[in-house]
Amino acid sequence: MIAKIGIIFIITILTINAEYVNYKNYKVYKVTPTTDDEVKILSELKDQNGYMFWLEYVKKGHEAKIMVEPKKQNTFERYLADRKIKSELIIEDVERVINNQRRRPAARSSEPYKWDYYQTWEEIEAWMEQIVEEYPDVASIVTAGLSVEGRLIRGIKIDYKKRERPVMGMIESALHAREWITPATATWIINEFLTSNDPDVRTLAENVEWHIFPVTNPDGYVYSFTDNRMWRKNRNKSSFTNCSQWNLNDDISNGVDLNRNFGYLWMVIGASQNPCAETYAGKYAFSEPEAMAIANYVTGLQRRGNLVYYFAFHSYSQMILVPYSHVGGADVVNVPHYGDMFEIAVKGAEKLTQRHNTSYAVGTSLDILYPVTGSAFDWVKGGAHVPIVLLYELRDVGEYGFLLPPEQIIPNNEEVMDSLVEIEKVTRALGYYGHSSANVIKISSVLVAIALMFNL
Ligand SMILES: [Zn+2]
Repeated sequence: MIAKIGIIFIITILTINAEYVNYKNYKVYKVTPTTDDEVKILSELKDQNGYMFWLEYVKKGHEAKIMVEPKKQNTFERYLADRKIKSELIIEDVERVINNQRRRPAARSSEPYKWDYYQTWEEIEAWMEQIVEEYPDVASIVTAGLSVEGRLIRGIKIDYKKRERPVMGMIESALHAREWITPATATWIINEFLTSNDPDVRTLAENVEWHIFPVTNPDGYVYSFTDNRMWRKNRNKSSFTNCSQWNLNDDISNGVDLNRNFGYLWMVIGASQNPCAETYAGKYAFSEPEAMAIANYVTGLQRRGNLVYYFAFHSYSQMILVPYSHVGGADVVNVPHYGDMFEIAVKGAEKLTQRHNTSYAVGTSLDILYPVTGSAFDWVKGGAHVPIVLLYELRDVGEYGFLLPPEQIIPNNEEVMDSLVEIEKVTRALGYYGHSSANVIKISSVLVAIALMFNL
């Protein structure tokens, strides 16, 4: 009897924990602050009332997307109207848009995945196991480590040439749980690398030994399907606390923002020590096993070969960000390889646009988004010194944001693939595959040419 009560008690707790957060009638407003004053007014709203800002930073001249609870709609509209700040209601019912995004085709068990819906973590895992079975000579499953809840962080290694010291590339997706388009892009790239007959894609696949991780934050990704579609962080519950002073549900404190937990200038800017914040950076740098796993994997690759590329996939904003995220203006010249990274990103973005006319901005996060430290890709640059490090903020620019409809998965993937093809061409031409002396030779021959010109 006692055991029975115990079981019922446990089940009840599980049920409470697993309550699905319903966003019925939540609204999303678009607000563009045009003065420093308006930025301040909006920022105050963020800190006091528990409104969810879809991007973490409020900036003059930039659209902020603010999600508002149904019961706060009037207060919110009045607050802005009293201060003469214009807003536009862009989503009437967030839950409806979520349901639209979660649409799945009728069951078709025998057919392979067609990128017409968003796969769960379990489906991605099963798909990866299947694809390596089909291409055992070139593809294998690799493991970076374990999540807080004990899930494996697994990726696919694709290696056509089996070189002694290969040129390598790594792709990180879904470090932020709710950015569902990112694993859908990573799995597409894996599939194209294994199946495409396009000579450009083949070159990209075969010139580089690829390590592609579709879901680097598996606990958060699972949680964004089962419990809270808007979940961003991992699921570390060790900083659980009361968040009512910000009108937030306490569950928000059950996680660390993995893209603020890396050990390069940890907690300097754009991150928080408050567990109730979306950008909670953790108790210390690399406190989170997921961040540690990625960092160890990167250094492991560097011991084995020439790790030239690291791509981080996030959403949304349509940008290719160049490190460092806290550096801007003229100071970018101090970032190693900045000129090359910028040129490579611009050419990649131009190529991307040609496919579906999607425009991407290029720059550092400070210059075109917001200043941040402690992110994975900044550490890969500043801590691990990988030469070509870029962060994609994928579709869209906020019409749907994280809730991008499944119809956009394939167009998004096609254009990203085009950009990667171009990036590989440009990077190779710049000499990054050769011996590390290639660039030195290039620079010294320029200096010699100048010297000759001026008869020095
Ligand atoms: Zn992100």
